[in-house]
Parts: sequence; structure tokens; C-alpha cells
Amino acid sequence: MDRPNLPRSPASIEIQALVVRLHATHAGDLTGHLADYIPELAKADPAGFGIAIAHASGEVVTAGDALTPFTIQSVSKALTLAMLLDLVGREETYSAVGVQPSGDPFNAIMLDPRTKRPFNPMVNAGAIAVAGRLRETLGPDAFTQILACLGEAAGRELQVDQAVFESERETGHRNRAIGHLLRAADVFTVPVDDVLDLYFRQCSLLVTATDLAVMGATLANIGTNPVTRRDVFGMEAVRETLSVMFTCGMYDGAGDWACRVGLPAKSGVGGGIMAVVNRQLGIGVYSPLLDAAGNSVRGQACCAGLAEELGLHAFDSTNSGSSFFSGMGHAP
Ligand code: GLU
Repeated sequence: MDRPNLPRSPASIEIQALVVRLHATHAGDLTGHLADYIPELAKADPAGFGIAIAHASGEVVTAGDALTPFTIQSVSKALTLAMLLDLVGREETYSAVGVQPSGDPFNAIMLDPRTKRPFNPMVNAGAIAVAGRLRETLGPDAFTQILACLGEAAGRELQVDQAVFESERETGHRNRAIGHLLRAADVFTVPVDDVLDLYFRQCSLLVTATDLAVMGATLANIGTNPVTRRDVFGMEAVRETLSVMFTCGMYDGAGDWACRVGLPAKSGVGGGIMAVVNRQLGIGVYSPLLDAAGNSVRGQACCAGLAEELGLHAFDSTNSGSSFFSGMGHAP
């Protein structure tokens, strides 16, 4: 998709200036480490850093490396959850996976002892359960449909990073163990290798910070991509997905994030964060240097800065974000 050359509203000009300022403030912060447990990810450029904000009116503002491709990794978990909710509904989705924060690492090889299901769809076990149900429901065509759906959310055709996919397929022994645990618990009935192939491919999709912003804005805009105006997700799927992102989207940093930033978000070990201001904005940030919890250091700092300066926190008493952003999309 070519980004439309929209008229710039006064509010979006101000946001552009803020995003550029935040980028300059944090550009020199090279703390954190590259993910290296998937060997190919260790080759990322540590200096890579981009921010994008897409408004529900379709306006997009960016700073830095907002068009640099990186693999979506766990950010895809939120979108495949929304897809499964749309396809089979809540009841069937939650027969495969719960919605409770786990308190365990994202790659823990375990099920919730009460339910014999993964704790939630944002940890690997939960996302592999979702991939299993997508594979069961859609058959061998499942990846083509995931590719199409995530492409609709981004507003452009996406592609797999073949080297990352192969690297993950060769080294993803923990995920393979999780797959067999889920198959043994009858969470899905299709072959484990087919499910993992699907999961590794979805994680290896190449996106940019701008894509994450538009995907987030699609969720913010109740499932309709605000740039292309095409319907992608249903209302119930969006509500459920944002709820799970709010409680479980930031690995073991979810509680700190909820207090500091106060927005539903999902991060990935490729360095991406997608955050959502309900009914208003999608935020996409890319910086591959991660903290100990696996979240992008500069990505979190930028989202915290945006939340603070614009009053985006869901429980901010001034809630200034709502009134500020009502000006976006209205050019003089
Ligand atoms: N593909 C990665 C894995 O399963 C995703 C991890 C992540 O981004 O949290 O290990």
C-alpha cells in the first residue's frame, strides 16, 4: 500500500514534533541486548530505532527507522488470537487457552494445572495452542490466511523472513516440547510439526514500526483498518484481544507496563512493540535492544514518554489524550 498523502491536521503536526523529539531523546540509549536464542535475530542492527503513530482517522506520523523491516515475533500472537476469536468465537477459543497472567517466562513448558490449558495466548504455549486451532480450522491453507489477515491489518502485503524462519525451526526445541505437551493434552489434534511450522512462520513475518502502528490503529478503530478502510476484525474479537494484551502483553513486565504506560500492548523479541489507545491510536516502535524481560528498552521509553506527554494512560485522571486527539484527522 502506498501511504496516502493526507492533509496534516494541526494536532498531527504537533504529534509529529513530539515523536521526533522522543526519537532524538532516546536515540543514544544503547542499553539492553539483542535476542540471540534464535541465532538469526542476533544479526539485527542494535542502532535501529523507529517510531510510528497511526490515528483512527488514517493519518500516520513517523520518526527514525519507521520503515525498517524486522520480524514481528510475539506481536503476531495478539493478531492470531483476534483471528481465531473471529473464526470460532470466544467459547471455542477459550477451550484451547485461558486468559490469566502466568507469572512464568514466556517460553515456559507448562500448562495451567487447574485447566490443563496454557495460561494465556500471549505466552508461547498459548500462541501455539491458537496456531493449533487455526491449523485445525483452516487446514493446510492456514498460513495463507494468516498472511492475508495480518496483511489486511497492516494495509500491505507481508512476507516471511526465510532465514529467521529456518533459524527458528532448527533451534526451537522448547517450542517443539510445548507443541507435544499441547498435543498430549488434546488442545489440538493435528500434527505437531504442522502447527509449529505455522507458528514459526507467523513469528517470522517482516513488518515495520509503521505496520505495527497501522495494525494497532486497526484494533483501536474496532477492527477496521483506518488507512485502507477495510474491515479486518470483529468487535468482540477486538475487545477480547485488547483485554488480554492489557493484562499479559508485555512478558514479565506486564504489571510495570500497566502502571507506567497504561495501554494494551504486545511486544516481540524482534524489538517491536504495538500499543493501542482505544478508539484513537496505534503506536508502533522498533528497537531491537531488549531488557531482561524481553521488551525493547527504547520502545518502552518512547511509549512511556508518549503516554505521559499526551495523557494516554487508560486511568489517567486528566485523560487529556481523548481531547487532544479529537483534533487529528481534521485539517483546517
Ligand atoms: N518466535 C519466538 C519464540 O517462540 C517468539 C518469542 C517472542 O517474541 O516472545 O520463541
